[in-house]
Amino acid sequence: MPAKGVEHGAVRTFDVPPHEKIRPTNTVVVIGGGVIGRVTAWRAAQRGLAVTLVEPDPVTEPSAARASSTVAAGMLTPATEAVFGEEELMEFGVRSARLYDDFVTELQEVSGVDVGHRRTGTLLVAFDRDDLAVLTDLHALQERLGIATERLTSRGCRRLEPTLAPGVRGGVLAPEDHSVDPRRLLLALARAGERAGVREVRGYAEEVTSPGPDGARLGVRLADGSVLSAHQVVLSAGCWGDAVEVPEPVVPPLRPVKGQLLRARVPDGEPPLVNRTVRGLVRGFPVYLVPRADGEVIVGATQEELGHDTSLTVGGLWQVLRDARELVPGVSELEVTETCVGLRPGSPDNEPLLGPTRVPGLHLAAGHFRHGVLLAPVTGEVMAEALTTGALPAYARRFAADRRAWE
Ligand SMILES: Cc1cc2nc3c(=O)[nH]c(=O)nc-3n(C[C@H](O)[C@H](O)[C@H](O)COP(=O)(O)OP(=O)(O)OC[C@H]3O[C@@H](n4cnc5c(N)ncnc54)[C@H](O)[C@@H]3O)c2cc1C
Repeated sequence: MPAKGVEHGAVRTFDVPPHEKIRPTNTVVVIGGGVIGRVTAWRAAQRGLAVTLVEPDPVTEPSAARASSTVAAGMLTPATEAVFGEEELMEFGVRSARLYDDFVTELQEVSGVDVGHRRTGTLLVAFDRDDLAVLTDLHALQERLGIATERLTSRGCRRLEPTLAPGVRGGVLAPEDHSVDPRRLLLALARAGERAGVREVRGYAEEVTSPGPDGARLGVRLADGSVLSAHQVVLSAGCWGDAVEVPEPVVPPLRPVKGQLLRARVPDGEPPLVNRTVRGLVRGFPVYLVPRADGEVIVGATQEELGHDTSLTVGGLWQVLRDARELVPGVSELEVTETCVGLRPGSPDNEPLLGPTRVPGLHLAAGHFRHGVLLAPVTGEVMAEALTTGALPAYARRFAADRRAWE
């Protein structure tokens, strides 16, 4: 029976027959419509798979959505996020960052949505001497890994960003660390998915069953009692992935890491506050300002391990504003447009979980933690490969979802 489409904002959703009669081997249900679920759905549909995406929240209403992807700042910053001991993850990030130009060109062409890709680089600055020491170590790591960055004096930083506080000690320019608008990216992915044949179901998945209805390999039971049959299922529900029941304990505990940030605007007629993403360390606390072409500035973000708590706190927002103002005093003049809180999906080892599990047909695309927007292009490629061949490409095997037993 052909599904009946209804317009939901700009994206079409479908009524689902409770038990689909067809049992083809190329049906995929993707659970979760954050950036990871949507890029997976789009790329899988492009490879000829029949994809259904299940998501409770409309992509057109980001302020009401629970997805971390609707809160993210959108930094594509593998160089300035490099951390000792996470070199492989950073290389994966560099691989994804290098895909971004072509990814954005294709996505914008197919979807007709401008995703706000800004190729203006990132300046990372230090507030005090201890912060400068951390930055010096980071620069050494970047050099060792062959990432092009440039060390700058305080004056050099202020030449690039005249609104920086005079006390800033010095910095590192990462010319290849860019940014994108994640809300526009989500909308573009939804439209591109729709055009590639992805069917979207508004619902909440409670359980993946094996077998599924009518002899299908897998089933996805939704909260309204309906069941979708599938040959393969991708669990990409962000930090809520471990709440979906699965036939065997193949999903590790996913750690929500809370982030609070503000969206603000440069007042009408005023010049941009900063010309590129400015990240800083202020007495050991990371802070960033991410400017968009339309005058919006994202000021973030806290990192708090408080379970699924999504309260916006005075203390959290104050910390972010305090540190942002130390670096760029003109932050005080911005007009606040929105305060946001999101939960980054952290895996036990902080690395993504990609591809097949030991439950036949069940895949994970989860645990992207602080880097889901950056890692979207490479995740799309990896998951499309996993869904069509059953295996991960060699470069992604480190991130295999079944890299250890999780029970
Ligand atoms: C403050 C903050 C700033 C960030 N900044 C950046 C940044 O600058 N750059 C970067 O790369 N990353 C950033 N991130 C991280 C990034 O947001 C995440 O890594 C990424 O969004 C994860 O995407 P996801 O699709 O896995 O999860 P989510 O975006 O959380 O999406 C999960 C989706 O699954 C749905 N869902 C949940 N349960 C179910 C269910 N049972 N059935 C169906 N659907 C379900 C949810 O409604 C949601 O839409 C930031 C995160 C935060 C919080």
